[in-house]
This record gives sequence, C-alpha cells and structure tokens, in this order.
Amino acid sequence: MIWFKKDIFKKKTLANGETDRDKSVRVPVGLWVKCESCSEIIYKKDVEKNLDVCTKCGHHYRIPARARIDMTIDEGTFKEQDQGVSPADPLEFKDLKKYKDKLRAAQKESGMNDAVVTGSGLIGGRRVFAAAFEFPFMGGSMGSVVGEKIARLIEGALEAKCGVIIFSSSGGARMQEGILSLMQMAKTSAAIARLKDAGLPYISVLTDPTMGGVTASFAMLGDVIIAEPKALVGFAGPRVIAETIKQTLPEGFQRSEYILEHGMIDMIVERRHMKDTLTRLLAMLGHRHGQ
Ligand SMILES: [Zn+2]
Repeated sequence: MIWFKKDIFKKKTLANGETDRDKSVRVPVGLWVKCESCSEIIYKKDVEKNLDVCTKCGHHYRIPARARIDMTIDEGTFKEQDQGVSPADPLEFKDLKKYKDKLRAAQKESGMNDAVVTGSGLIGGRRVFAAAFEFPFMGGSMGSVVGEKIARLIEGALEAKCGVIIFSSSGGARMQEGILSLMQMAKTSAAIARLKDAGLPYISVLTDPTMGGVTASFAMLGDVIIAEPKALVGFAGPRVIAETIKQTLPEGFQRSEYILEHGMIDMIVERRHMKDTLTRLLAMLGHRHGQ
C-alpha cells in the first residue's frame, strides 16, 4: 500500500540542531506563527503587541504602510493626501501578465491605488509630512504615482514649513513604466533639494528591503538616515553583485549593521524606539523654524 511508503513524518533538522517536526505539527492556524528568522513558534498576539517584532529573536517583520503610520503618527492626527492618484499604463506593458492586470490585483489585495501612503500628522505634538511604503504592492516599486506622491508630500511640507519622514521599503524602480519610473528618481531628488534649501529637516528611515532606484534617490538623501535592524539596503541585490564580481560576499553584506559600519547610514533604531527617536530628532532639527 503506497501510502505507507510515503515518508510523511520525515523530520527536518534545523540550524540549531533541533528537529522541525515537534514544532511545526498541530499548530492551530492563525493563533501561532513560526518566526522566519529563529524558527521559534510564537504567539501571534504577542508579536502584534510587540509592533511585529519577534519576541524571541528581535527579528523585525515587514509591516503594511498603514500600520507603520499608525505606530508613528500621534493617534487620530494623520490626514492622508493624494489617495486618488492612480497609475496609468503609458507603455501598455506586458510580460507574462499585463501591467494593467498586475495593478488591478495589487490594488484589490492592498486596498490602495499604488505602493505608498502619504500625508501629514503630528509626532510628539509636532507637525510632520510622512510617507510609508507598502512592500507587497508590486514590491513597493516606484513608478510615476509613487514619485508624484513623494514630490507632492515634499511640496506640502515646504508650504507648511514642516519636516519630512519617509519610511522606504522598495525593490526599486517599476520596470513596467520604463523611463517614466527612472524619471521619478530625479524628480524626488530635486524636491528633497528644495526642502534642504528651505532648511527643513528630512529623515529617511530604511526598512527591509530598500533597494534600486529608491536607494539611489530620496532614501539616501536624508539629513539623518536611520535603518531598522538587519534591513537589506543596497542598489543591486547581493546575488547579482556576487555573480558580477565573481567573489563571495562578506557576512551580513548590505544589511543595516554592515552599512552602518561602512558609513552609509547614521544609526540603527529598533522599532520600539523609532517614534521617540524621530520625535527627538525633529525637535533638534526643526529648532530654527521655531516649530
Ligand atoms: Zn524570531
């Protein structure tokens, strides 16, 4: 009888030498989750209470844009802007699927028009213009809508004489919009330059992962650049680089800790300290405007 031959109880050995079977079997769906970093089984509500950080190993999970806004902006003060700006398909792009269909699926899944939420609100009582990326929306890629919303966010901050905070999480430029995506790098960088000319603070927060055209434009232009622990930050991914230079990359390459050591960012801040840190930084940087 064939089913007796199937090795359905085969144990997998984990990195720590324990076997997988005891831990993964009979876990009620939805109540417990297995940490993707330490493989511990943890109570989902504990993780949620802990701002989506593993209670055992401190792994920072990727979080939705709106959750990011909720944990950063003072309760009830966030006013979202430009929600209605929607993507077009100027190249009528098609690979395995039509770009239009991919967009429609991502919009349905996320309830958002594109990959970033922007708006203004208070942090520790101080008004700020903030953006957060939605990574599951086509890899948080920057097409014309993301670029336009970031530019408008900065224009709003200029008008209101406020600081800007951007939480990036992006695979880079949106290839389906071709050169129109690449133009967003120049557009957003130019907007940041105007903010700097006006002496207004811009804090860039890099979360896992921040790559490609986003890293190569506004994400690296912060007056202060913060990263969450162990976030992947770079331009091309580690696999592409290793294949190009035909060398083995060092341990922890392109992770927050590595890039801090190499001077690319100013600090690594755990999620539980993020709001306090931002509040303090804005108070310091916003001083000259008497905000
Ligand atoms: Zn963990």
